[in-house]
Amino acid sequence: MNKLLPHIYEESIFKVDYDYLFKKNIKVVLFDLDNTIIPDNICEINNDIKMLFNNIKNIGLKPIIFSNSPKKRIKKVADILDIDYVYLACKPLTFKFKRLIKKYGLKKSEVAIIGDQLFTDIKGGNKVGIKTILVKPISEYDPFLTRFNRMREKKILSKLDIKESNYEEM
Ligand SMILES: [Mg+2]
Repeated sequence: MNKLLPHIYEESIFKVDYDYLFKKNIKVVLFDLDNTIIPDNICEINNDIKMLFNNIKNIGLKPIIFSNSPKKRIKKVADILDIDYVYLACKPLTFKFKRLIKKYGLKKSEVAIIGDQLFTDIKGGNKVGIKTILVKPISEYDPFLTRFNRMREKKILSKLDIKESNYEEM
């Protein structure tokens, strides 16, 4: 399988079918933070996001923030949402994925990751063997390195012809 190809492609975290993930025996959903939950340069959590995470918990899924950003930024958001977090996750490297799976006593098949970047979130998730869900980035502003990756992403996405909401293939 192409390591850059997500299992599911959605418009945003609000469009993901969390009930379906639960039915498919997913227990933990890892969330990238920057440009997946909130824009890169902002640290505000609005009510829509709070309600979404409450819904996700009520469904029976455990959301965990899994971000390459430093602790301070991650902790602030995780505390507001009252969820666990992993900072400096080093995606697409897999050792922190593996550590988390072991720590929570999970099987790979019980974990999914949602993120906006093919070269970190999706590649890392696929390498470790969990379900991967790509969402569109929230903000147009990206740091330089991300901007470079975006150009490569666009090329790949146009070649892959990714269909949205391909849940049946999970
Ligand atoms: Mg991101």
